[in-house]
Amino acid sequence: MTKLLPTLTAGSLPKPSWLSEPEKLWSPWKLEGEALIEGKKDALRVSLAEQQQAGIDIVSDGEQTRQHFVTTFIEHLVGVDMEKRETVRIRNRYDASVPTVVGSVSRDKPVFVEDVNYLRSLTDAPIKWALPGPLTMVDTLYDEHYKSREKLAMEFAGILNEEARELEAEGVNIIQFDEPAFNVFFDEVNDWGIPALERAIQGLNCETAVHICYGYGIKANTDWKKTLGSEWREYEQTFPNLQKSNLDLISLECHNAHVPLDLIELLRGKKVMVGAIDVASHAIESPEEVARTLRNALNFVDADKLYACTNCGMAPLSRSVARGKLRALSAGAELIREELSAERTAA
Ligand SMILES: [Zn+2]
Repeated sequence: MTKLLPTLTAGSLPKPSWLSEPEKLWSPWKLEGEALIEGKKDALRVSLAEQQQAGIDIVSDGEQTRQHFVTTFIEHLVGVDMEKRETVRIRNRYDASVPTVVGSVSRDKPVFVEDVNYLRSLTDAPIKWALPGPLTMVDTLYDEHYKSREKLAMEFAGILNEEARELEAEGVNIIQFDEPAFNVFFDEVNDWGIPALERAIQGLNCETAVHICYGYGIKANTDWKKTLGSEWREYEQTFPNLQKSNLDLISLECHNAHVPLDLIELLRGKKVMVGAIDVASHAIESPEEVARTLRNALNFVDADKLYACTNCGMAPLSRSVARGKLRALSAGAELIREELSAERTAA
């Protein structure tokens, strides 16, 4: 990307109310069969149009074709029994009934290739595509086969690599792995979580990103955040090894988060997707608020490596709030571009 401070979102965008119940996370589909397939495609087209109208530079599918950022991928895999549920604690934070790994995991056929192909046919803009990360996948399942989180993560990494290679061939420019669990299991991240990501990106020529956040604005997450104290230093545990990794971009939460921005310095040399939009609040940021977050981040990341992003996905917000936030993101990034170009003219 030659444009300074390109804008993009970390993940999901709200779905139209005819596709699933609005302002609800992981809401079930309202359509079935052929109508559902067509409805998902229509939603993807609407989501793309909304991003483009808001001036978003690097677009995505807004996750319109998936109900859940992890399980929609997992339900396409062999070796996972979606009906056999066990209750486990997710990210040490909340209990959920999850599918069970009952045998060797593998991928029979591509999961998102058709969706990418469709999105690519609609736009020439750079596309970012999100996949779940291996550690977060492991943390969202009950495993009665491998009995080793590391082993299962490495198996998933191989599967993700197959998928990523096919998405790249369809024209995806950035493949992002969502790893909210990276903010919780620090020893595992450093022992095998980052190596699993390295395995997942092996041989790719497109850019690769990892998204690490404090989660959607749901109660379990906001309650957890209250226990983290006045300074959120979780990133400090993982950034040094991510800085040494082969991943190109790191997506992190900044706006309204208690993350000391100097932790970004630990990533020096990497491209950084700075979260300048709070997804846990319905208040639409002003362009100046967005600009302030980006301006502060510029103390720790070179301007040509700064990407203006959201903190996380916006699926649980109303469409009008999400649209407003996208527009604020674009306008805020533009304010900083103007400042940088004025500085350059003055120098
Ligand atoms: Zn997130």
